[in-house]
Amino acid sequence: MEYILRTKNLTKRYKEQISVNNLCMNVEKGDIYGFIGKNGAGKTTTLKMILGLIPPTSGGVNIFGSEVRRNDISYLRDIGSIIEFPSSYEELTAYENLKLHINYMGIRDEKTIDKSLEKLGLLKDRNKKVKNFSLGMKQRLGIARAILHEPKLLILDEPTNGLDPLGIVELRQFILRLASENQLTLIISSHILSELELMINKLGIIDKGVLLKEVAMEEVKNNCLEYADIRVDNIEKAQKILESHFGLNSELIEDKYIRIDLKEKNIKTNLISKLLIDNNLELFELINRRENLEEYFVSLSGGVKL
Ligand code: ATP
Repeated sequence: MEYILRTKNLTKRYKEQISVNNLCMNVEKGDIYGFIGKNGAGKTTTLKMILGLIPPTSGGVNIFGSEVRRNDISYLRDIGSIIEFPSSYEELTAYENLKLHINYMGIRDEKTIDKSLEKLGLLKDRNKKVKNFSLGMKQRLGIARAILHEPKLLILDEPTNGLDPLGIVELRQFILRLASENQLTLIISSHILSELELMINKLGIIDKGVLLKEVAMEEVKNNCLEYADIRVDNIEKAQKILESHFGLNSELIEDKYIRIDLKEKNIKTNLISKLLIDNNLELFELINRRENLEEYFVSLSGGVKL
């Protein structure tokens, strides 16, 4: 297991308030890590400490296998980031904006500009002034700028903020492609889980400065419940049949539904309905329910709604 980033008891205190509290975060090579928490949970403060923009009150950051020392910013060469909204010069073109940036970064090869624009689907818009860009295009231009120096780790703070659903889908596709084609590791923060759900493989949930949970999405999906609620004319008979045929335990809901866990024995609902009908039961309703991720997270995070 190769870690790209680990924070150890990272803490930021502003007077009486602890904005980030003993946070231990683990990001492995190739991860697309979703850093999720409500507004004010401490995401930006954490990311700023990782990027050396503000000093931690205590605790530390280990990046690419080395502890980050105060005043040493050499590790930033391998990191690209957008913290808060990426601003560009509106009166300049996309190309001119990135040209300014490579000059400032000391990158000589101008070809990197078109390469970056291409990766974010903006090559055809390279000579358009940024003031004519949509919010999604501006966001992508910000990412194109953040990857000009070919970083190994890309940190995006709330990149989906303000985008419409189509803009989110588009951004997701670019991010997924970027990650796979450039062997990038990504940390993406958001306060809306559903916006990240389809692009991340790992998730850290932060609330009131505390990292409540860090979990692989695969585990999350496996742990999400999937069940069927069945309404029949003879509940007792149906329960017995389901148990004797499929070994399914059932639970009675609202005195009228039999609820069975579909994941437990991996049985398809069409087989269940067939069994009940073949046994002369009248099947009024069979509802396939899947606990959604939001519900799962409320339970994971001890009732904290994201
Ligand atoms: P958002 O999505 O709204 O940016 P966030 O999760 O990024 O939320 P932070 O910006 O990290 O949250 O803020 C965490 C807490 O720290 C908030 O309560 C905020 O008011 C406080 N905070 C942040 N910066 C400072 C500061 N410079 N001085 C005092 N308090 C601060």
